[in-house]
Amino acid sequence: MREFTIAAIPGDGIGSEVIEAGLQVLQTVAARDGGFKLRIETFPWGTDYYLEHGKMMADDALDTLKRFDAIYFGSAGDPRVPDHISLWGLRLAICQPLDQYANVRPARLLPGIQGPLRDVGADDLDWVIVRENSEGEYAGVGGRVHTGLPEEVGMDVAVFTRSGVERIQRFAMDLARSRPRKKLTLVTKSNAQRHGLVFWDDVFEVIRKDYPDVETDKMLVDAMTTRMVLDPRSLDTIVATNLHADVLSDLAAALTGSLGIAPTANLRPERDWPSMFEPIHGSAFDIMGQGIANPIGSFWSAVMMLDHLGEPSAASALMTAIEHVTAHGNVLPRDLGGNAPTVQVTEEVIAALEGRNA
Ligand code: ATP
Repeated sequence: MREFTIAAIPGDGIGSEVIEAGLQVLQTVAARDGGFKLRIETFPWGTDYYLEHGKMMADDALDTLKRFDAIYFGSAGDPRVPDHISLWGLRLAICQPLDQYANVRPARLLPGIQGPLRDVGADDLDWVIVRENSEGEYAGVGGRVHTGLPEEVGMDVAVFTRSGVERIQRFAMDLARSRPRKKLTLVTKSNAQRHGLVFWDDVFEVIRKDYPDVETDKMLVDAMTTRMVLDPRSLDTIVATNLHADVLSDLAAALTGSLGIAPTANLRPERDWPSMFEPIHGSAFDIMGQGIANPIGSFWSAVMMLDHLGEPSAASALMTAIEHVTAHGNVLPRDLGGNAPTVQVTEEVIAALEGRNA
């Protein structure tokens, strides 16, 4: 029997609630499938760990994680510690050294979910946002000097390398090519950012010659926000920088009903190191510990993980179970207009997987 090792890092806030739910669902999928087993180890890294040890994760965390087939992550962020410390100490401290450069964020209106856009149904909003995940505005290059003085300076330098830009654009082209519409929109702000983002445009011009079967267009990021709202049908696959795609994917999640639904894969396409799967939402401290977090983003991220591990039929069984629950609409979490707690949504998805609520 095939066996996959999964490192679970629930992290902060509602991370532990949605990852625990996701692990239950994953074990059910594996048991139903019968062809593979999941060996899961959970790591206590996050803000509680930081407050005890002065660091967000163990010193040998990366070496430990490299031994796993995939990482299943909750969230990083806690009001007791500044956000940039928790983000850079945990999530980015994993993504960047493991060079998980392709952040893939599907956004789709699931059956039965009414998004905020009038007359937009499931067939009208089906996107994948590809976010550059290793450099750009989040490269970590910059500094702060003369703290507290009138001449204080704070700088974050956006770093774009030819290898970094080329590999993410090629990844997005390949993904666009694999989808029925074969359509890719490049998003930049190359009118204002005339160095790095004109560079993105130039690389795109070269790369798109290798993909004559993929229809392409280009948008400035500000105009893109209005197009996503006013003409969602015109979009399919989207590629953008680390910052721009971060912002656009929160908008995309809201347009598909809730931040609580949306999944992410931080992919290491070369597969020499593990990829990491996580819901796109943050730690949602306002609802932590209440048992009402929507676990669907973490379930959908598990679907992406199963696909990446080479278990497409298990992935599609889980996606079908999620869609069964949203389509029926009688057991929905609060952020989707229902009143079901996390455990009940989880139980309903498990029941759908086991064919008990057909
Ligand atoms: P980050 O900066 O880490 O992305 P954030 O504080 O901007 O995080 P979230 O923590 O994602 O944002 O929360 C934004 C809002 O969405 C909050 O009101 C939160 O309660 C709600 N929310 C986020 N995730 C969920 C979820 N899974 N279920 C229900 N509500 C959620």
